[in-house]
Amino acid sequence: MTALAKIVHTAPEIDAEPDLTDGFHLVIDALKLNGIETIYGVPGIPITDLGRMAQAEGLRVISFRHEQHAGNAAAIAGFLTKKPGICLTVSAPGFLNGLTALANATTNCFPMILISGSSEREIVDLQQGDYEEMDQLAIAKPLCKAAFRVLHAADIGIGVARAIRAACSGRPGGVYLDLPAKLFAQVMDAEAGRNSLVKVIDPAPAQRPAPDAIKRALDVLRSARRPLIVLGKGAAYAQADDAIRALVETSGIPYVPMSMAKGLLPDTHPLSAGAARSTALKDSDVVLLIGARLNWLLSHGKGKTWGEPGSTKFIQIDIEPREMDSNVEIVAPVVGDIGSCVQALLDGMGQGWQQPPSDWIDTLKAKREANIAKMAPKLMSNASPMTFHAALGALRTIVKERPDAILVNEGANTLDLARGIIDMYQPRKRLDVGTWGIMGIGMGFAVAAAVETGKPVLCVEGDSAFGFSGMEVETICRYGLPVCIVVFNNNGIYRGTDADPTGRDPATTVFVKDSRYDKMMEAFGGDGYHVTTPDELTRAVNAAMDSGRPALINAVIDPAAGSESGNIGSLNPQSGIKRKV
Ligand code: ADP
Ligand code: MG
Repeated sequence: MTALAKIVHTAPEIDAEPDLTDGFHLVIDALKLNGIETIYGVPGIPITDLGRMAQAEGLRVISFRHEQHAGNAAAIAGFLTKKPGICLTVSAPGFLNGLTALANATTNCFPMILISGSSEREIVDLQQGDYEEMDQLAIAKPLCKAAFRVLHAADIGIGVARAIRAACSGRPGGVYLDLPAKLFAQVMDAEAGRNSLVKVIDPAPAQRPAPDAIKRALDVLRSARRPLIVLGKGAAYAQADDAIRALVETSGIPYVPMSMAKGLLPDTHPLSAGAARSTALKDSDVVLLIGARLNWLLSHGKGKTWGEPGSTKFIQIDIEPREMDSNVEIVAPVVGDIGSCVQALLDGMGQGWQQPPSDWIDTLKAKREANIAKMAPKLMSNASPMTFHAALGALRTIVKERPDAILVNEGANTLDLARGIIDMYQPRKRLDVGTWGIMGIGMGFAVAAAVETGKPVLCVEGDSAFGFSGMEVETICRYGLPVCIVVFNNNGIYRGTDADPTGRDPATTVFVKDSRYDKMMEAFGGDGYHVTTPDELTRAVNAAMDSGRPALINAVIDPAAGSESGNIGSLNPQSGIKRKV
């Protein structure tokens, strides 16, 4: 607890000043009481002093150059730790910059709290034109799981507690906490302030599944000839790693990891069907979804990705009951937290569990080996300029040798190919563009990954993707974080070869040819490398990661190597009409 004005007088006859606290200190104390250790943000009116004081009170305050990246850092901190990540922004424009990250956190089910200063209610509500006037609460509401405003210092404790509980309980998500400027300087008695704080007990209570839901799920699983487990990032978030591994190994059911669930079991595990994904999804007859939604990333559970309509039965474990039947019928919904649900399934399997028919396992194994063999030569080319495959082949070996490094990955081709090529070996080591497939998460995720885990970070970025958050290399250098960024520089978006048909301007998808992104890192005191072959890339990444210093490697990729929109070209509408000029 902090005292705002505790003046100790030596003369006993003079009454001591009253022991006071204020809004600033109550916010800090409320966060600390609830185990929050780090704030990600951008300082400015009216929260400049809040950041300063939080730092003085022992919180780690990481200041960014733009709120979106601070917000992304908070969101991924939430994913990694199961505690809400805190993002602190200034009013109106800063708040708006943070909103993309808040909405993205909510979409991805990451617990995060965007705390924003705001203008005075009286003026905002009468629309009298305050400094940075904006009804932030109303704007945030549809983009997050819950939104709260605190007007009285005495309510700060409750406001922070509600925000934490809303972010973490049930399906996690983003929460907005609106703190008008006047609140911060409101003074109250320190003792009363202390008593107003709330420590949230059990912020994400276990939600045990109903026994008949478990029985139903096991009955369906037992009936399967070609069962499959799909692990999603909810499974990674749940931190039920041992139970999930035991479920896969005890059941003998092959599994496919969604992108951020890679490494929950090593991608080299004999039951991993990751390299036989298409066959596994298409030919399975029963699919157990664990913390994965049947959204676009799984073709909504229907269509060409899956077998004949109705041929696949879905069992789904999820904490959110309304997720069931969102796209297709779920024959066995199992509602609860993943740790409890997986354990209940394991307990229910008991002794007499029959492993799936060996022809199914053998089919997937053969497919997987064939796909890996087909890929192998592409990964080994030492040509210059590099193909995506050759550069990723080099990084694949590095990740194998450094399995505890965290891989951050965004781009189009850089993302889609890295997801398939780079094997992961440990849980929660792959952080990427998530449910929306958004660009711009790179540096924010990298900063938080380094800060929260203390592990080295390898950030594999398309040159376009990097551009969205590239200025945060200064932040990485300022805090001296062990982040090695590899920019796959192919001179543009998808490819660097397009031309403006009129010849007037650069094409809409190309960047300055032969840019040297490594110089950006050098500008702030980090290490820059420029490489053109996989061997050079390997040497540079190893040197950078051994040094533990901020580094950026400009990796020259063949501008003609990429494909439009990476793997999701089908989502990109194309005109079939050719206009006469
Ligand atoms: P992916 O994109 O990897 O398939 P999704 O984000 O689509 O993953 O799905 C994650 C799912 O996990 C969400 O439906 C969410 O409700 C669920 N979830 C998150 N945390 C838990 C948990 N602790 N227990 C159960 N379900 C969870
Ligand atoms: Mg590119």
